[in-house]
Amino acid sequence: MKAHDGMYIDGAWRPAAGADVIDVVNPVDGQVIGQVPAGTALDVDNAVRAARTALPGWAATPPAERAARLTALRDGLVARAEEIAETVTAELGSPLKFSQSVHVGAPVAVAGSYAELAATHAFEEKVGNSTVLHEPIGVVAAITPWNYPLHQIVAKVAPALAAGCTVVLKPAEDTPLTAQLFAEVVDGAGIPAGVFNLVTGLGPVAGQTLAEHPDVDLVSFTGSTAVGRQIGAVAGSGVKKVALELGGKSANVILPGADLAKAVNVGVANVMSNSGQTCSAWTRMLVHRDRYEEAVELAAAAAAKYGDRIGPVVNAKQQQRVLGYIAQGVAEGARLVAGGPDAPREQGYFVSPTVFADVTPEMTIAQEEIFGPVLSILRYEDEEDALRIANGTVYGLAGAVWAADEATAVAFARRMETGQVDINGGRFNPLAPFGGYKQSGVGRELGSHGLAEYLQTKSLQF
Ligand code: NAD
Repeated sequence: MKAHDGMYIDGAWRPAAGADVIDVVNPVDGQVIGQVPAGTALDVDNAVRAARTALPGWAATPPAERAARLTALRDGLVARAEEIAETVTAELGSPLKFSQSVHVGAPVAVAGSYAELAATHAFEEKVGNSTVLHEPIGVVAAITPWNYPLHQIVAKVAPALAAGCTVVLKPAEDTPLTAQLFAEVVDGAGIPAGVFNLVTGLGPVAGQTLAEHPDVDLVSFTGSTAVGRQIGAVAGSGVKKVALELGGKSANVILPGADLAKAVNVGVANVMSNSGQTCSAWTRMLVHRDRYEEAVELAAAAAAKYGDRIGPVVNAKQQQRVLGYIAQGVAEGARLVAGGPDAPREQGYFVSPTVFADVTPEMTIAQEEIFGPVLSILRYEDEEDALRIANGTVYGLAGAVWAADEATAVAFARRMETGQVDINGGRFNPLAPFGGYKQSGVGRELGSHGLAEYLQTKSLQF
C-alpha cells in the first residue's frame, strides 16, 4: 500500500523528527502492508505551531468560503472513494463492499452535511439587547480510533473546519494509511496550509503529547474509556475544553407485540457489522420471557449466516481480548448458542459470530464493552424490568426499541439513559447528534450540535 514516510504539516509532507516507524498490518493475514513514521514530541510541536499560525486567517475566512472548501473536501473523498475503500479494507480487514458503503459512504455524508452547515449556521444571533457571536474555539487536537478510520476523522475535522478552527490529527496506529489518504484529499481541496495537520504515532507518545500541549484549546477524543479518563484529567488541569466519545453497551429492547423476527435479525446484523467493532452496537438484546426461546433460536440462526461474511477484528491483541470475553461468558454460566472462544481460522485475527443466551445483567459480558462480534440475549419479566436492565450499566451511548406501535416505543425510549435510540429500526442521520450519557462520554458529534462543540460564545451588549 502507498504510505508517506513523513508528517503532513503546514501544507506539505515533512520529514519526521525521529527515525522510528509503525508497521501497518493487514488483519486478514497478519502481513505488513506498509510503514508510517512514529511521531515524537517535536513533530507534535511543529504541527501545533502550524495550526496556531494558520488560525487567525482561517477563523476570519467567511463561512461561505469555508463551506466551499468543505464541499471540495467532500468531492475529493468521492473522487477517491475506491482507493479509500481499498485502503480501509487493507488495514482494518473489513469486506470491500462494507468499506465502500459504510466506511466511505458515512464520512462523505458527514463532510457534505458540514459543507451545508458552514454556509447556513447562525454564527451570530440577537438576544435582547445583545449580539452573541459564536467564534472558533481555536486549535483542536483530534485523536481517533481505528474502528471507522475515516468516519471518526471526518466527524471531528469537518465540524472543526466549518467552525473556523485549525486541527492537528493523531489517528489510530492501526489505521494510519486512511488518515494519510485523507490528508492528501485535504491538500487537494484548497484548504490553506496549517489549517489541517497530521501526525501519525503511538498513543502514549504522540497522542499524549498532543493532548497535553499547552497551545491546544480543545481535545476531541474517541476511543477507550481508560484513555478517555486520562485525557479528561489532562484537559481539566490545563482548563481545556474536551469532547470524549467512549464506549457503549447498548440495549436492543424488544417489547411484547414487536415484530420479533425483524427485531432479532436487524439486531444481530447491527452487532455483527464491522465485526462488532462499533461503539454504538446493540450488544445486549432484551426479550420478554414469553418469546425468549423463539428469539434465541432466531438469533442463533441469523448469526450462523454471518460465518464467512464478516472480516477479522483489527489486531491480535483485540482478537485475544474478544476471545477472552467469550471464554469468560462460558465460565460465568451463559449458554453459547452460536460461535465460541476458539479462533475459526489459523491465519488472521478472526472471531466467530457469537451469541450467548441466558445472560444475566451482572455477568461480565452484559456489563463490559467487548468490541467484537458477540451478542448477549437477556430475559425480562415486564417493562419496568426491561428498563432497569437497559439502564443498568455505566454506559449510555445508543440503543433500540421495537414495539407494535411507535408511541409505545417512543415512551420507552424517553426513559432510557442513553444518547441515541433507534425506533423500530431507525436510519442513520448524519445531522442527528451522537454522543453519550453517563460514562459513554462528554459532548456530541454530528450536525449542528457537533458544530457547537468547536465554538465558543461572546456576547456584545448594546
Ligand atoms: P485507545 O483508547 O487506546 O485508542 C484510541 C486513540 O487514542 C488512538 O489514536 C490511540 O493512539 C490514542 N491513545 C492511546 N493512548 C493515548 C494516550 N495516553 N494519550 C492520548 N492518546 C492516546 O483504544 P484501543 O486500544 O485502540 O481500543 C481499546 C478499546 O477501546 C476497544 O476494545 C474498545 O472497547 C474501545 N474503543 C472504543 C471506540 C469508540 O468508538 N468509542 C473506538 C475504538 C476502541
